[in-house]
Amino acid sequence: MSQGQIAAKSETTTANRSSDTGRFWPVAMPSLEYTDAVARETAHLYERVKDVIPAIEWPVMAPYIKAINDLKEQRNAVILAHNYQTPEIFHCVADIVGDSLQLAQEAVKADADIIVQCGVHFMAETSKLLNPDKMVLIPDERAGCSLASSITGADVRLLRERYPGVPVVTYVNTSADVKAESDICCTSSNAVEVVESFGKDTVLCIPDEYLAKYVATQTDVKILSWKGHCEVHERFTADELNAYREANPGLEIIAHPECPPEVIDVADFTGSTSGMIGYVKDNKPAKALLVTECSMASNIAAEMPEVDFVQPCNLCPHMKRITLPKILDSLVELKDEVTVDPLVADRAREAVERMVNLRS
Ligand code: SF4
Repeated sequence: MSQGQIAAKSETTTANRSSDTGRFWPVAMPSLEYTDAVARETAHLYERVKDVIPAIEWPVMAPYIKAINDLKEQRNAVILAHNYQTPEIFHCVADIVGDSLQLAQEAVKADADIIVQCGVHFMAETSKLLNPDKMVLIPDERAGCSLASSITGADVRLLRERYPGVPVVTYVNTSADVKAESDICCTSSNAVEVVESFGKDTVLCIPDEYLAKYVATQTDVKILSWKGHCEVHERFTADELNAYREANPGLEIIAHPECPPEVIDVADFTGSTSGMIGYVKDNKPAKALLVTECSMASNIAAEMPEVDFVQPCNLCPHMKRITLPKILDSLVELKDEVTVDPLVADRAREAVERMVNLRS
């Protein structure tokens, strides 16, 4: 993050819109000066990210980080950060990190009144589904997802009419409305197991066409899909990866199953974000290329400086809407709150819980 991305803020007092609940109270916008005290109190956090954040940027970030961490305590809030969040968020203000489902499940165990979701909107909805009594905030409500927006609940109802009796498995990267129309949810790590759990010849696996194609290579079940794509993973090409391999002898290519099949064909390993992280930690390759959103490599690089990460940088514009200043605003003003229609929420939660129960 550059200095230009963080605008200086003056001290203001903001009324808390949820103060009528009795659990919350108004707070003042903290000072954002980089003082000796701020430097001292954040020094241990800079140690975590010093290999991936230049020292010149720290005086801009540190006051936000301190203010967010202080306010988090005052509000009894937890911050969930997806693996694709930038290192200053992932390593310096987050309480729980992981993929979207891990985040929502871990948040259930947290003794907190407020969840701040540093990720995209469908993740915040999933957190709300699994934590209905907690206030869920997203620092920028415009943080969407090309996969989630590729399909609606009405589309799923039409698919059911067209394929009567065919079970519908929905990727967690969807809206609550779509989850509510589904038999069960899946993640990229359990999709094969979920598809096979029905014992049927044919299953609809939506909305990610490439994940469905990958699942089809791992099972005898006939997979029907949808034309949804992740705008980050669909941009990778096999030619690009082969060129990186040629220029970097010994390079291990680790791909996410949202990538096109030609990309998965040239990868040494394919797995979910947590699977990819596990692969790097277990195998410690000298050189690795993670075929996914590029902040994930930065986040692992901060922990594993011994691995040389070759980074073709495909950023998710939706994930990058979440910044330190917006997280602070979210905690000061308690915005933007994510809600799900209770009728939709009950059915969507059932689809998620069926998957969770299958795993346990
Ligand atoms: S990386 Fe892809 S799947 Fe994830 S939020 Fe961005 S667009 Fe959606």
